[in-house]
Amino acid sequence: MTEEGKIGSFLHVLTAKEVDVKTKLILNVTGPWGNCVNQTMKPSIPDKVIGLKGAHIVVKLPEEFSECGIMIINRANEPMYLLPWHEMHYIGLNRTPYDGELDEVKATKDETEWLLGEVNYAFPQLNLKRTDILYSYAGIQPVTFDESDPQGTREVVVHDLELDGIPNVLILTGGPIWNYRHIAKKILKEVSKRCVPTLAKQHPSSGSSEVTKLLRNSRSASVEMNISDEILKKIIIEEQPVYLADILLRRTGIGWDIDQGKSAVPEVATVMAELCGWDEQRKEKEMQLFHQHIKEIYQVQKYRGDSVCD
Ligand SMILES: Cc1cc2nc3c(=O)[nH]c(=O)nc-3n(C[C@H](O)[C@H](O)[C@H](O)COP(=O)(O)OP(=O)(O)OC[C@H]3O[C@@H](n4cnc5c(N)ncnc54)[C@H](O)[C@@H]3O)c2cc1C
Repeated sequence: MTEEGKIGSFLHVLTAKEVDVKTKLILNVTGPWGNCVNQTMKPSIPDKVIGLKGAHIVVKLPEEFSECGIMIINRANEPMYLLPWHEMHYIGLNRTPYDGELDEVKATKDETEWLLGEVNYAFPQLNLKRTDILYSYAGIQPVTFDESDPQGTREVVVHDLELDGIPNVLILTGGPIWNYRHIAKKILKEVSKRCVPTLAKQHPSSGSSEVTKLLRNSRSASVEMNISDEILKKIIIEEQPVYLADILLRRTGIGWDIDQGKSAVPEVATVMAELCGWDEQRKEKEMQLFHQHIKEIYQVQKYRGDSVCD
């Protein structure tokens, strides 16, 4: 499938249709999904990445904490942060090896209790309770697999799958965000060994994208994220969103606000419908899917009265 110049078949994730692709090299940069993608090409391929689960709780701390970012060392001797965000604090995280369903990751009761316990241990006067949690969430950090360590290794590795019997496929493992320029250079080095560049060499810009700058300037320090219609339209046109959740959670951060973006849903859905050509039915479906999604990931209902079990 991946010999140079040959055509391979792939499943398009959005349309579920098979598409033929002609390529010299495949880069598998799917983070925690890396093993699954490798195994669609060859089921016996050994794991290259392990997932470490990181759960967070979001709380409103007393006024004295406002705008203060705090780093503590927890009782497991690991760093934990309390990050200020729109009158709230994001508190995380734990690091637990995870091999469950990647599309449905959420913080468990044990994890949220543990996070509360660690914060209360560091700041006993806070006496945070489960009902103080506004919402929780969790994500999976892709770390390079290491047979001798269940937590994997922090090393950033570009693996050549030729050694596993699949030529012309590279997979990246272990790349944190803060390290992205170093990682990009590392990948580029491997790619240029295998493909001759067809464009002149360019120096990457070290500045933020135009959209990032606009977003940064438009954010007020208030609870609400005020994003103008103009910026919203620009993001919808230029940042290739497919679902309403892409804009609210993955492009603008509106969904990480104190009301999880719920109040912005009708307005953003209307603008998206206009620019993405959605009919009324699709718009309604997107709004319903977003509400369902945030209910599942943030689990607000669990902390209001504690009636839902894990
Ligand atoms: C809770 C948490 C907190 C973190 N905090 C920090 C931090 O403070 N600083 C830091 O530097 N790092 C942090 N990390 C780690 C960082 O997020 C990851 O290391 C980084 O995102 C890895 O980048 P990536 O591009 O390899 O993978 P990802 O960011 O996971 O991107 C992989 C992409 O591949 C896509 N994909 C999956 N399968 C397919 C497919 N079949 N076809 C097409 N696309 C596909 C996914 O949708 C996803 O967009 C944190 C991680 C977590 C979970």
